[in-house]
Amino acid sequence: MTDLKGRVAVITGSTSGIGLAVAQALAAKGANVVINGFGDAAAIESERSKIEKDYGVKCWYNGADLSTEDGTKSLIKDAVAKAGKVDILVNNAGIQHTAPVEQFPSDKWNLIISLMLSSPFWAIQEVLPVMRKNGWGRIVNISSVHGLVASMQKAAYVAAKHGLIGLTKVTALETAREKITCNAICPGWVHTPLVQKQIDAIAARDGISGDEAKTKLLTEKQPSGEFTKPEDIAAMIVFLCSENAAQMRGSAWVQDGGWTAQ
Ligand code: NAD
Repeated sequence: MTDLKGRVAVITGSTSGIGLAVAQALAAKGANVVINGFGDAAAIESERSKIEKDYGVKCWYNGADLSTEDGTKSLIKDAVAKAGKVDILVNNAGIQHTAPVEQFPSDKWNLIISLMLSSPFWAIQEVLPVMRKNGWGRIVNISSVHGLVASMQKAAYVAAKHGLIGLTKVTALETAREKITCNAICPGWVHTPLVQKQIDAIAARDGISGDEAKTKLLTEKQPSGEFTKPEDIAAMIVFLCSENAAQMRGSAWVQDGGWTAQ
């Protein structure tokens, strides 16, 4: 049983989807959590207060835009100011944009690379001295199967996710002699708002129902024919935060229903 009582976790992009499930799972193990991301203010406040009530921990919300260095570093600085330290960092915030490479808009490329590759780098830069001071830390980068293999029309996303696995390995090597670990997780399809947009696009393109589009999306890539659940990823992160995971360093852990076994 992993006990995270007294630990402080920052989870980027945790107002929905995978990040929210991770925040809830870490809080359920006793960690105080900082959530971040965009969305409706009342809905975010309701999730924040529910985490405090359900798990008896502190939960702070910081709405920093992580597509900039200042925004990212301010999130970590604010967490240290409020909670006194950061023990666990989960770099999760992400977006998608699809277009053929020669038509891929530069502004979308820059935004995706900033948010999904540079921001984890800036957050790690800011958090490592804090973890070193306390002699313990866990960094988990949410990559993707698209950190290992490619799909068409996702140039920026695939490049960012591949790069994030490289950053994970370097960070793991530089902390290898410390009680600080860094790993990546590579989910296949997870049914979240990010993927719902892609399901809606298939339904509109092919003139089929939402359910048919969901099946089509899954069967194209994910042999199990089932979504990975946000809770499955959250459980993996809880394990990576345990002492049994102390020697799991610099790896990309796949939860993809068989996608990359093909
Ligand atoms: P989601 O859309 O449900 O959540 C994304 C989160 O990021 C939200 O909280 C959103 O507000 C936040 N965000 C977006 N832009 C931001 C910004 N500029 N600054 C701060 N926060 C911002 O998506 P999700 O599916 O839960 O994705 C979470 C992560 O998992 C992403 O990195 C995604 O690439 C990765 N992932 C998702 C899947 C999947 O199938 N859903 C598969 C593999 C990897």
